Amino acid sequence: MSVTKKLYLYFPKSETEKPIVYKLVKDFDLVINIFRAKVTPEEEGYLSLDVTGEAANIERALAYLSTLEVNIHAGNKGLHWDKERCAHCGACVVHCPTGALAFADQARRQLGFTEDLCVECHACIPACPFGACTSSF
Ligand code: SF4
Ligand code: SF4
Repeated sequence: MSVTKKLYLYFPKSETEKPIVYKLVKDFDLVINIFRAKVTPEEEGYLSLDVTGEAANIERALAYLSTLEVNIHAGNKGLHWDKERCAHCGACVVHCPTGALAFADQARRQLGFTEDLCVECHACIPACPFGACTSSF
C-alpha cells in the first residue's frame, strides 16, 4: 500500500551537489512532490517535499538520507502563523495549496491554521498584508 510522508530536509554545502532527489526517485521508487527548495547564501539547502511510495521504500530512503549529513524533520518548524496579527481578511486562503490556512468558522470568518497540513511552501507569506505568516527559514 502506498503512503505519503511530508519531509523537510536541511543539508549543508557539502551535500547540496548530491543528486538526492534523483536517488529517492530512482533507487527507492518514490514519487516526489517538491513544495519549496531553497539554497541559502551560505549554500545550505532546504527542501520541503512529499514522498509517496511503499512504506518499506520510504523507510529505506530515510535510512539512506541518514547516511548523509542531511537533517530530516517531519514536523512544521518553518511556518509560523501569528494569531494575534491575523486580521482574518482571507487573502492567504486562495494561495494556500493544502488548506492549512482556511476559514475554520465560515460564519464568523475566523481563520485557522492546521499545522499538520502545512507543507511550508511559503505562498502565504507574501500574500498576507498583515505579516501574520512568517518563517525562520
Ligand atoms: S506555508 Fe502557508 S501557504 Fe504554504 S501550506 Fe503552509 S500555510 Fe499554506
Ligand atoms: S492573509 Fe494574513 S491577515 Fe489575512 S487571513 Fe491570512 S494570515 Fe490572516
